[in-house]
Amino acid sequence: MRTFIHDQPALRVVFGDGRLADLPAEADRLGLKRLLVLSTPEQKEAGETALRLLGSRAAGLHAQARMHVPIEIAETARAEATRLQADGTAAIGGGTTTGLAKAIALELDLPSIAVPTTYAGSEMTSIYGLTADGEKKTGRAEKVRPKTVIYDPTLTYGMPPRLSATSGMNALAHCVESLYAADTTPIIQLYAADSIRAFARSLPVILREPTNAAARADAHYAAWLAGIALDRTVMGLHHKLCHTLGGSFDLPHADVHTVILPHATAYNSAAAPEAMRIIAAALGVEDAARGLYDLAKKLGAPVSLAEIGMKEADLDRAADLATRTPYPNPRPVERAPLRQLLDDAYHGRPPR
Ligand code: NAD
Repeated sequence: MRTFIHDQPALRVVFGDGRLADLPAEADRLGLKRLLVLSTPEQKEAGETALRLLGSRAAGLHAQARMHVPIEIAETARAEATRLQADGTAAIGGGTTTGLAKAIALELDLPSIAVPTTYAGSEMTSIYGLTADGEKKTGRAEKVRPKTVIYDPTLTYGMPPRLSATSGMNALAHCVESLYAADTTPIIQLYAADSIRAFARSLPVILREPTNAAARADAHYAAWLAGIALDRTVMGLHHKLCHTLGGSFDLPHADVHTVILPHATAYNSAAAPEAMRIIAAALGVEDAARGLYDLAKKLGAPVSLAEIGMKEADLDRAADLATRTPYPNPRPVERAPLRQLLDDAYHGRPPR
């Protein structure tokens, strides 16, 4: 008989088309009166919308979030929050913007409302990341978890097709690894399976029709479930490898996840048969790893490390870095098969 501990922290989720309009009421509910709105420079307009909605509850807009939270960016944002006497943050954007809110919460204890506009899932987690001297370090702290999350699928209509596809694959990776994690639970398995099902049916529609309301809502719902799966389980080979490749070779986050996922799944296939059965059934295919590869291809997403800027000469160093410290994974992580995995991923071959 299986045993498990299922422990899920409380977090309020407001979901639905147009629910960004609830932002002021959600701020009131948390007793926040001076929110610093955060966004990237590219999504400044969305930040301005949030600022207008908050009206007198807004302390200002700081549109300077940058991928992987460089420490200088975090420090500037913290200084701005202090200068404006902000009592909380409202982060509107993808994982990059949520990440900046977390960096502020980590030092200044400011609660945040997250309004995610991608499928990265960071809004559901207590995981933060900061990059200093070219190295990204991650950690966990309960205080960085957003207090309230507003999912408004209409905010994802403008997400470029490529980011929609790769961000979806990034979320699928959370589901895959949560299914074979040693600390998975029956509830997480339900979340992961339904998330995979919802992504598999919605992403192809989104690629054809980016403003399809039903498909965008389906995908945002799937991202929510995937975010919980990421938060509640310990990730394995796939996430470690992507962290190494992204951090050490400066490759785009969601792209790396997309390329590696089928190969990491294949690597663990024989060691995690129950997870593979659930993934394949949710995708409606025979083989989990091949199904993920075919989905990425169908979405026109990258399938090789070569096409996203990795150099073949760096594959040996990547294999060394990824096997330097041990971590939990269903199949032992050994250098020779990992090097083979990287070679397949580099050339964009189907997973073995
Ligand atoms: P992102 O937030 O970096 O967004 C990429 C670009 O797309 C940005 O310019 C952004 O402004 C823009 N964008 C986002 N949503 C848009 C939309 N709806 N319409 C138009 N443009 C939009 O991408 P991401 O993949 O969401 O986040 C990646 C980062 O998040 C990485 O640093 C990763 O490590 C982190 N992350 C952290 C966690 C966690 O739990 N801590 C989980 C997942 C990802």
